[in-house]
Amino acid sequence: MKARLNRILKNDLCSGCGMCSAVAEEDAIQMRINRDGYRRPFLNAAFTDKPIASEQTSRAFGASCPALGLDIRPYKTEHYHPIWGEVLEALKGYAGDEEIRRAGSSGGVISALAQYCLAKGLVDGVIQIQASEEDPLENVAVISRSRQNVIASSGSRYAPASPAEALRWVGMSTEKYLFIGKPCDVAAVRQMQAHSPRLRENIPYVVSFMCAGTPSLEGTHQVLEKLGAPRDEVTAFRYRGDGWPGLTKATLRNGEAKTMTYNDSWGKVLNRHLQTRCKICPDGIGEFADIVCADGWEGDDKGYPSFEEREGNSLILIRSETGRALFRNAEADGVVKAEAFDVGGIFAIQPFQYYRRTTILPRLMAMKLLLLKTPSYKGFELGKGMREIGLYQSFKAFTGLLVRRKKIKKRALETA
Ligand SMILES: Cc1cc2nc3c(=O)[nH]c(=O)nc-3n(C[C@H](O)[C@H](O)[C@H](O)COP(=O)(O)OP(=O)(O)OC[C@H]3O[C@@H](n4cnc5c(N)ncnc54)[C@H](O)[C@@H]3O)c2cc1C
Repeated sequence: MKARLNRILKNDLCSGCGMCSAVAEEDAIQMRINRDGYRRPFLNAAFTDKPIASEQTSRAFGASCPALGLDIRPYKTEHYHPIWGEVLEALKGYAGDEEIRRAGSSGGVISALAQYCLAKGLVDGVIQIQASEEDPLENVAVISRSRQNVIASSGSRYAPASPAEALRWVGMSTEKYLFIGKPCDVAAVRQMQAHSPRLRENIPYVVSFMCAGTPSLEGTHQVLEKLGAPRDEVTAFRYRGDGWPGLTKATLRNGEAKTMTYNDSWGKVLNRHLQTRCKICPDGIGEFADIVCADGWEGDDKGYPSFEEREGNSLILIRSETGRALFRNAEADGVVKAEAFDVGGIFAIQPFQYYRRTTILPRLMAMKLLLLKTPSYKGFELGKGMREIGLYQSFKAFTGLLVRRKKIKKRALETA
């Protein structure tokens, strides 16, 4: 497993999900922010000359780590769409509870479903991330057991987070959990479930959100600089939420709040700090989840997503029968409200996801030309996407990656 981790880090393919730290021997791997501001596995010095996992675990890790590969084939049916993945139903909606809708990143649907699962006793806990109590700029994996903690964890955090670290607790427990994470976090869980009956049994629900990529913590630091908020004075930091999209807000020790629009923080700073793995990710759309949510942006007069402040709305894709049953029961109880949405309309509200999905193949080709390793992606029908976007855009994506190649930083497994 050490050799695999080294290969991943040397090729800058880690997404920082944290699954490796959960399945390795206890304390062998710790997830930490590295020099580039990303969460990465660090080896405990005590394990330098010792194996960190059994042969069996190492094999399961090799087949599950999203840096090594994604295989969507076991989850595909006749409902598979070559750009948007398995879609049983597409909807637009929001949380019935006003507080959750407002607190949530978009329509608060993820938090509403989490709260519903707890209230109905469908799960004992919700695995998710939230801002660390010690350092409001860092994210920690938690198990929420109350509405209050689900609301405290709501909202997107555009910085490294490793919810799959929590798989260690799941493996030792007999409780049931809902897992919430980015598409790569969820893929790690789903692929590892194929090797672990305990994980399959203990995590009956997996929910995700569309993801344009994880920015380095350096991005957050730059946002703070632009806000004129000294890092050590910050007592709370929200990227968005509390409205839709809501403001990026740093609260200082003296009670002062410094704010910036989502368009300025994400669009002008954070999205310039994405890690390499995200640039070649075919699954920004959460294909391994039971339900995936995204911003259900309204289009402006030119047809582009409008970030004008309004009441939160989510795009919701139901991907499995488990997801459908959960969503329909929550809807019948008034926990979520939704109406059907045409799959053909997703392109207009998620243009970035469309562009990245259709240009993954040329980017992978550019990586191969540079003799860089890439993850193995199976079943994503990437050729269809490339044909859809055409030669010109494919060529642009190919040359764009060649030009940016210098940024790919090679590192080995560092010692904690
Ligand atoms: C890195 C990142 C990229 C995103 N890219 C897109 C995009 O391309 N298109 C789009 O429409 N929306 C994107 N979003 C926003 C996301 O779509 C919305 O959060 C989603 O619509 C869910 O809204 P909600 O109101 O239902 O979620 P909420 O009810 O607010 O719940 C959000 C859940 O996500 C969890 N979470 C927040 N940040 C992270 C994180 N970094 N890692 C793991 N879990 C986290 C929280 O713990 C919470 O459980 C992104 C968010 C993030 C964090």
